[in-house]
Amino acid sequence: MAAMLRTSPEAHARFVPSLLTGFRTSRRALATSVARVSLSVSSSAHAEVVETAAVEGKSARWKPTCLYHTQGKCTLMNDPLHLEKFNHDFSVNLQVNNSFRDICSQDFDYFVILDLEGKVEILEFPVVVIDARTANFMDAFHRFVRPCRMDEQRLNEYIEGKYGKLGVDRVWHDTAVPFKEVLKEFESWMVDHNFWSKEMGGSLNRAAFITCGNWDVKTKIPQQCHDSGVKLPPYFMEWINLKDIYLNFYERRATGMKTMLRELNIPLLGSHHLGIDDAKNIARVVQRMITDGAPLTITARRTSPTEVKFLFKNRIR
Ligand SMILES: [Zn+2]
Repeated sequence: MAAMLRTSPEAHARFVPSLLTGFRTSRRALATSVARVSLSVSSSAHAEVVETAAVEGKSARWKPTCLYHTQGKCTLMNDPLHLEKFNHDFSVNLQVNNSFRDICSQDFDYFVILDLEGKVEILEFPVVVIDARTANFMDAFHRFVRPCRMDEQRLNEYIEGKYGKLGVDRVWHDTAVPFKEVLKEFESWMVDHNFWSKEMGGSLNRAAFITCGNWDVKTKIPQQCHDSGVKLPPYFMEWINLKDIYLNFYERRATGMKTMLRELNIPLLGSHHLGIDDAKNIARVVQRMITDGAPLTITARRTSPTEVKFLFKNRIR
């Protein structure tokens, strides 16, 4: 985590005022009390939060995650009020019971769960890493991504429509950086964790990407690389589509993350379509599948810049 926590003094000065106002206008109700949220907020995203918080609310009060902290940009770590209101421990709700028996041997040491947000251009790049043997949470990488081909007005409308209703548009504007920069930071984070090295190139080292569907790595990453003028990185050549694993292991079709969560009786936490919350929820499905004994193997591999080979006969189309 150390690499994620470094910020410059300038960044501190820039982020503090907006951090306060951003949260005051956005997630105030969520942070104070679940009961109040149910009375004052009617949007579906918030309704889901209430519903799931009620399920788990008995033991621990659900708190929204500090989205500055997930990006290594929180400057209020010494403010008790801020710490009281926002979750700064990413491992919350990702604990596993280590006494499970049916663990199966996996091809990989780590699963790198990626769940992009943004249809026209990528707006959010959230990653959650799970240990393949123990199912324990390892680390997370999170960045909001600033599109490169949109004028200011269109971008503002896009962000308002996408993140405004989740109450996190302010933090998006405060922290988003271009995709090119995100990839650079992601690569140095992977190098720090020994998941990949520039010199070796190629795919991840003892680790594999897991996505919910093929869209993220098959379609969106190459599109964004093209738009941002960067070469498609070699580690995006293969991935695990969790829906295909789910179909073959449980012999049931799941059209998306919400179906998997529902069928496995895992409550949906946070805001659906906030990438970091979705990545965390997918990670919880992955943890369950590891502990249920599902082998998570590569389901798709790029054979040329435009061709993808799907490795499972029985798969979600
Ligand atoms: Zn914070």
